[in-house]
Amino acid sequence: MCRLGLKPESLCAILLTHGHLDHTGGLAAIKAWSRAPVYAHPAEQAHIDGNYPYRGAARVCGALEAAGRALLRYRTVKIDVTLRDGDELPFWGGLRVVHLPGHTAGHCGFFSARENVLFSGDLFASYGVCTHLAPGFLNSEPTRLPASVARVRALDPVGLIPNHYDCADITAHRRRFERLCREFRQTERS
Ligand SMILES: [Zn+2]
Ligand SMILES: [Zn+2]
Repeated sequence: MCRLGLKPESLCAILLTHGHLDHTGGLAAIKAWSRAPVYAHPAEQAHIDGNYPYRGAARVCGALEAAGRALLRYRTVKIDVTLRDGDELPFWGGLRVVHLPGHTAGHCGFFSARENVLFSGDLFASYGVCTHLAPGFLNSEPTRLPASVARVRALDPVGLIPNHYDCADITAHRRRFERLCREFRQTERS
């Protein structure tokens, strides 16, 4: 944060798409430094606390997170403001909460109508020819993923900003997502 030139008062809120460790590892430190409130869907508190009851293949994700928490000497954080689908947040000219469950139960995106861009969280990762949905063992509610993918396509933003991405522009991430959806449909048909 300091290297980015940010001061504690520069941060007015911390918006979490979901509570996996790769998004919360520094959460306690950032919150303590900035005193900014943490916004997240209430279903993510169990992930943040490290006691989400992973089932099936997703237990691999739980084991990796447990090891990571030990290495990082992880400290948990309470969600200060709980999010619901459709909430309008007064940041960045207005951000609408879009609940996109599947990766986790409370996974959310944030849509800016002003910029026509969606922060799409971990719904997919965008790395050129290696654009992909999160691997199965990282999705705790995989049966809900197709509806979330369909919802993003129906929202039809000009740009997408995933959590895991290369330095392509927002419209390239959008095109890659569309290509991913087409490939999926072809796979389902064959
Ligand atoms: Zn994740
Ligand atoms: Zn992630």
